[in-house]
Amino acid sequence: MSLKITDDCTSCDACVPACPNDAITAGDVIYVIDPDRCTECVGAEDSPQCQLVCPADCIEVGTEETQDQLMAKFKALHP
Ligand code: SF4
Ligand code: SF4
Repeated sequence: MSLKITDDCTSCDACVPACPNDAITAGDVIYVIDPDRCTECVGAEDSPQCQLVCPADCIEVGTEETQDQLMAKFKALHP
């Protein structure tokens, strides 16, 4: 699954450096996760790093994807 950020985001910036795929950027109002870059940290970490560091607890499951799809995405991002 790729994750998504909810309206509770306070734009604190804590999640940006935690992402191994550079998937998180500042949007117009709240921060956003690029679903084409988020692998739920599959390939890099044991668990989603952005969720671990987010003080607002505002990152939740977005699009459903299989482990194989996530790993393929990670490998494509890091050839
Ligand atoms: S789950 Fe991992 S890859 Fe996806 S946005 Fe969060 S830190 Fe980045
Ligand atoms: S860590 Fe949480 S509150 Fe801070 S910018 Fe990221 S999603 Fe928003």
